[in-house]
Amino acid sequence: MLEKFERYPLTFGPSPIEKLSRLSAHLGGAVELYAKREDCNSGLAFGGNKLRKLEYIVPDAIASGADTLVSIGGVQSNHTRMVAATAAKIGMKCRLVQESWVPHDDAVYDRVGNILMSRVMGAHVELVDEGFDIGIRESWENALADVKAKGGKPYAIPAGASVHKFGGLGYVGFAEEVRAQEAELGFKFDYVVVCTVTGSTHAGMVVGFAKDGRQRNVIGIDASATPAQTKAQVLDIAQKTSALIGGKDITAEDIILNEDYAYPVYGVPSKETIEAIRMSARLEGMMTDPVYEGKSMQGMIDLVKKGFFPAGSKVLYAHLGGVPAINGYSYTFRNG
Ligand code: PLP
Repeated sequence: MLEKFERYPLTFGPSPIEKLSRLSAHLGGAVELYAKREDCNSGLAFGGNKLRKLEYIVPDAIASGADTLVSIGGVQSNHTRMVAATAAKIGMKCRLVQESWVPHDDAVYDRVGNILMSRVMGAHVELVDEGFDIGIRESWENALADVKAKGGKPYAIPAGASVHKFGGLGYVGFAEEVRAQEAELGFKFDYVVVCTVTGSTHAGMVVGFAKDGRQRNVIGIDASATPAQTKAQVLDIAQKTSALIGGKDITAEDIILNEDYAYPVYGVPSKETIEAIRMSARLEGMMTDPVYEGKSMQGMIDLVKKGFFPAGSKVLYAHLGGVPAINGYSYTFRNG
């Protein structure tokens, strides 16, 4: 499905699938949990889901003759860290707008984790006092104009690399990779659990799994706390991506987005999110973060407990990365 699109390799290749035996047993053993480790997918600054998307965006950036990648996210954005790493790898400059999407307590929140690494990788980091929004932002447009005004040639990458003509392709590739891994494993996964915010990860999976009719078994766990906007964005990206690759028609019913775990707001973990982070860390040594994967982990654990997945189901948790942000939450985990 993707052969006609140019891909610039940023990842190691297929990401590993690991059985979460102790977590599965702890939750009663009726459901078998696995993780696809997108968090370990690259040597570029700790990796993560954005690299799969950027692999299809970088050829366009290079072809455009740009010299600066310009992107946007929250202060602890994983996405902007990945753009900074990509810019370094391909020899471009990087301009990042980091907005105040998250209320926080930690004194060093804007100095550690993702933003620390972006600075070390040479990105020009601009802190802007604007609240959370997954849409196109004025601050980002201003940054693009500023690069131009200074004689540079910017290439625009929106938040999460999502609302971009090639933003959905990477996770179509994820579905193809899972199908190949299933053939090797000798079984198929009944469900895929994915954290959803700006939408192209989920959207790409929907298009990719629609090939064998499994798109409604992709269970998105909203972490945006603005689920109507997120769901509309997933649908829009999925439809455009499917049209781009000549895939199946995608309808609103194909987008399964669970809204129950994003509370209290984007970027702030609930007591239950923190418990889920500790549980997967203590049973599996698998770290998740308080903004994204901790919420999808919480969702998966709760859905297992509620009996949402029929007994005997094999569930694949897409671990999309994001752990560096936990450095900005040291007060939350002060006592372990
Ligand atoms: N998980 C992590 C670690 C992320 O950085 C992101 C980025 O927003 C997501 C999940 C959500 O992916 P998407 O924005 O494609 O919905």
